[in-house]
Amino acid sequence: NVDAYQAALAKVRAELLGKHYPLIINGERVDTAEKLYSTNPCDTSEVIGSTAKATIEDAQRALDGAWAAWADWKTWSMDARARILLKAAAILKRRRLEACALMTLEVGKNYAEADVEVAEGIDFLEYYAREAMKYAGFGAAETTWFDGEENGLMYLSLGVGVSISPWNFPYAIFAGMFAAPIVAGNCVIAKPAEDSGMIAGFVVDIMLEAGMPAGVLQFLPGVGEEVGEYLVQSAQTRFVTFTGSRSVGLHINEVAAKVPKGQKWLKRVILELGGKDALIVDETADLPNAVTAAVQGAFGFNGQKCSAMSRLIVVDEVYEEVVGQFVERTKALSVGTGEANCNVTAVVNQESFDKVGKYQEIGKGEAKLLTGGEAPGECGGKKGHYVQPTIFGDVPSDARLAQEEIFGPVVAVFRARDFKHALELANSTEYGLTGGVCSRNRARLEQARNEFEVGNLYFNRKITGAIVGVQPFGGYNMSGTDSKAGGPEYLGNFMQLKTVTERF
Ligand code: NAD
Repeated sequence: NVDAYQAALAKVRAELLGKHYPLIINGERVDTAEKLYSTNPCDTSEVIGSTAKATIEDAQRALDGAWAAWADWKTWSMDARARILLKAAAILKRRRLEACALMTLEVGKNYAEADVEVAEGIDFLEYYAREAMKYAGFGAAETTWFDGEENGLMYLSLGVGVSISPWNFPYAIFAGMFAAPIVAGNCVIAKPAEDSGMIAGFVVDIMLEAGMPAGVLQFLPGVGEEVGEYLVQSAQTRFVTFTGSRSVGLHINEVAAKVPKGQKWLKRVILELGGKDALIVDETADLPNAVTAAVQGAFGFNGQKCSAMSRLIVVDEVYEEVVGQFVERTKALSVGTGEANCNVTAVVNQESFDKVGKYQEIGKGEAKLLTGGEAPGECGGKKGHYVQPTIFGDVPSDARLAQEEIFGPVVAVFRARDFKHALELANSTEYGLTGGVCSRNRARLEQARNEFEVGNLYFNRKITGAIVGVQPFGGYNMSGTDSKAGGPEYLGNFMQLKTVTERF
């Protein structure tokens, strides 16, 4: 499909470059005085397009309009709502390559990564539509009898909520985060990340084309600290679903806990935050397989995934061999544009570029630099946010490099005395999102199954991440509220259950 992808890139360049996405409030396109611009991370001289930049007044109108729309939307049957998601999924399938190409240009994803993400976004829509059908029969008809009383269960929507999403899965996570609450009968104000407003606008247009009624999905690109925070604190907001960094997530948690005048409820807050994900390799592992897992886990989309492997923990006996191969394979990775389908592209923006550069310097003071360590800011004559894939060896467990999420292609490698020590090191951060173990020792895998404190655990697996409907995704500890996107309990986050008991 690479040829077709190249053709899609040409089409997107011809048709979407320079496109402007206004806000969508109550089904109408609304423009603003100021804009947010998207630039190509791999060639910062290229402006991809823009979105409107919502103001507080826009946010207020979006809230009012969403509550007005909810009065009708909550009365729709589950299957009528689910049908809209299925129709949108069908349109997205047809426009799959275009979505990939736009993601390449806006956030620097290569074709392989973009294609997986588009598939995931489609899966989210189809999965939540199917899950919604499990609730379709409930209501007064679904009853049980106990002690001479009839008990009915009713699953009700909550009202209006806010979805605040990151740029790193600008299509799949953005779509999944609004699709679940919407199919459950809520109205959602979707605030995408500043760096990925165009792909979000592309997805929202498809939702409208699929028949989403006015006001049910409000599209509000804008600045997090401004409109994002306004929406979180509003007395009209019933729930907040957030995916992003630990620091912003904790702040949102605090803001949402306050009860402003006129607010009648406790806000539900769903937080999916960062990770410092570890892969353990022991002496019984299939070593080439383990090294592939390390390379792919660490450098897929430049390590800009919450599930990225950023800590490699190797038992002493095979440390030199595994780390030697890992470094060699890393040196061989191609660095360049997503369009050329390079293994490693540019990180998303100046802030990420500066952050990676800062940690490269911190790492040089804390551990042994094994490869990389520079942030050249250009590649093949193109100025962009290019940083070298970087590995540090023999990292102490209390180093900043060992504890803090960098969110770029930087890996800290640890030497463990034995498997027990490796597991201790793996559990020594405050995060608990994903983790991996490469070993052929059954007893150790059993021990990891019980003791590795993560929400998603992989044994002898070459890739990280999760398949919708198969591996519900979400982390422990500081990685979030473990709400498990793409899993059977997820819709429950956006519903309230009423029991009705009648004595005859
Ligand atoms: P971020 O926290 O900087 O921004 C996320 C969103 O929050 C953006 O839309 C931003 O505009 C908004 N925001 C910022 N300040 C706000 C405020 N004061 N009030 C309301 N909204 C505000 O994160 P990012 O850089 O976009 O994404 C990367 C982070 O996301 C990483 O930490 C990564 O691990 C995490 N992530 C987690 C998961 C998961 O499932 N656990 C998935 C993807 C990404």
